[in-house]
Amino acid sequence: MSDTLFTKIIRKEIPAKIEYEDEEVIVIHDINPQAPVHLLIIPKKPIDRIAHMEAGDAALLGKLIYRAKLLAEQKKWKDYRLVLNNGEEAGQSVFHVHLHLLSGRPMKWPPG
Ligand code: 5GP
Repeated sequence: MSDTLFTKIIRKEIPAKIEYEDEEVIVIHDINPQAPVHLLIIPKKPIDRIAHMEAGDAALLGKLIYRAKLLAEQKKWKDYRLVLNNGEEAGQSVFHVHLHLLSGRPMKWPPG
């Protein structure tokens, strides 16, 4: 997989507001927030889209959800939405898997 914006952010070649980081995951604030809280929870392993994940990636991608839960607990965000866009038609614009965490306002369902 070729470099994406998120690979460069992970390597600190491009600045981002980092909320959390460990060996496997980085969490940054979205540059164009769609809610008062809008974080991107990104695995450091470059997987371009959910459709290309393999069985061995399941635990890593599960950690994205668990990290969202821990952050929400720490920050006392009671209700939140987690979004994974797979493919352009679904709204994916950066082809390095990432989980959106949105919170801080009421949200409608279904999304547009
Ligand atoms: P996607 O549309 O692929 O699901 O989500 C990509 C997200 O990356 C978008 O919400 C977009 O606002 C965010 N984004 C795009 N460029 C940058 C950037 O340079 N820095 C940060 N922090 N977020 C970005």
